Amino acid sequence: MTTLFAERALLPEGWASNVRIVVDDTGHIASVSKDSAAEAQDEKLGAKFLLPAPSNLHSHAFQRAMAGMTEYRSARHDDFWSWRTLMYRFLDVLTPDQIEAIAALVYVEMQEAGYAAVGEFHYVHHRPGGGTYDNIAELSERIFAAVKETGIGLTHLPVLYTYGGADKQPLKGGQQRFGCDLERFVKLHEAARAGLRNLHTDSAMGVAPHSLRATDPEQLKEIENLFADGPVHIHAAEQVREVEDVEAWLGARPVEWLLDNAGVNQRWCLIHATQMNAAETSGLAKSGAVAGLCPITEANLGDGIFNAQAFFADGGHFGVGSDSNIRISLAEELRQLEYSQRLKHKARNVLASSASTGENLYMKAAIGSARALGRNSGVIEKGRLADIVAIDAGDMAFCGLKEYQLLDGWIFAADDGVVSDVWSAGRHCVKNGHHIKRDSVERWYRKVLGELMDQI
Ligand code: ZN
Repeated sequence: MTTLFAERALLPEGWASNVRIVVDDTGHIASVSKDSAAEAQDEKLGAKFLLPAPSNLHSHAFQRAMAGMTEYRSARHDDFWSWRTLMYRFLDVLTPDQIEAIAALVYVEMQEAGYAAVGEFHYVHHRPGGGTYDNIAELSERIFAAVKETGIGLTHLPVLYTYGGADKQPLKGGQQRFGCDLERFVKLHEAARAGLRNLHTDSAMGVAPHSLRATDPEQLKEIENLFADGPVHIHAAEQVREVEDVEAWLGARPVEWLLDNAGVNQRWCLIHATQMNAAETSGLAKSGAVAGLCPITEANLGDGIFNAQAFFADGGHFGVGSDSNIRISLAEELRQLEYSQRLKHKARNVLASSASTGENLYMKAAIGSARALGRNSGVIEKGRLADIVAIDAGDMAFCGLKEYQLLDGWIFAADDGVVSDVWSAGRHCVKNGHHIKRDSVERWYRKVLGELMDQI
């Protein structure tokens, strides 16, 4: 049992004072009491205010190693596809050891940014060229090792990636490392599931058909039959060219096709539903699925702007993820989301539904990301996992702000240094702004990146 005592905490009903939170040995919240007195064994948090910690619902951890390396023009018109070419060059050399070290740093950075858990959309499965490792789930195991090292919560999402493009194009080059037909994928998924049993009990599995362009309608039907439980994640419609290719092949736009044919419901998370028309936006909002938004990466790759205003108006669920991990910042994902809407609509506070835009965005993202990961978190209440973040309310960024403006201060004005502590299912991984494994993981990453850069 661990007990936290906070002067202020954001509970489902709003801000509360003198909150005592008891966390049991399984990482669940055993009790929450307001207006209580601290007891001798309580960890007293002083000026640290407690919030539910969201999950990062979409990550490709290995891409963190490329951050800052593709910010130059590689073609007359540079776009997602030229970025992807450079990403594939990386895949020619990455080893399991390197993937594990990169993932460990990514998870340290995520927790230091205020995320308690991650949905790892895991699609590098095989050796360069496509040969299987001795353990077919070797690279899933490397993700698990990084999770174990850092203590982050995990929903593991092994990816089915069969084709190199819409209408069953063959895999090419770097894509060989992703390649699975359905039979190979089922074996891989089973092996990963066996490995997951050695992780924290809050770890979970889902399934991720990569996208319509990398799978086909028959496979998606089979996926539904084979994996009846747990989250289903898919890259939906990130690029205009992708929409055109799918339309030429299946006679419908990707999100339109998924809504009409794939049984999209609350188990589903559509990542990068960037290119949607009004009917798709409304249909997705009403399906109960979560829109997995990655505003920093989507801006970095020049994808376009998600139609958030209409999606929110129809009651759509959303969460955020860091996708390419070009930059890992929970507050900045939400800031970028709101700012993209301000620029698009030439208006302010576009995604507000109450006095505080920040609080509205934050609480919805916390709940939506938990739903997308099948994780029993997102609010601080009895029975939930203790995914909690402490913000240093004494930081200069909050000077003069009222309590209801705290999240506006964090999201729009502060830097990430205001994140003081993070508990992932009760595991106290970030203390006073510093992940407990930060120093060793950073040394490991620096060493591995040195080796990697000699190979590229
Ligand atoms: Zn992605």
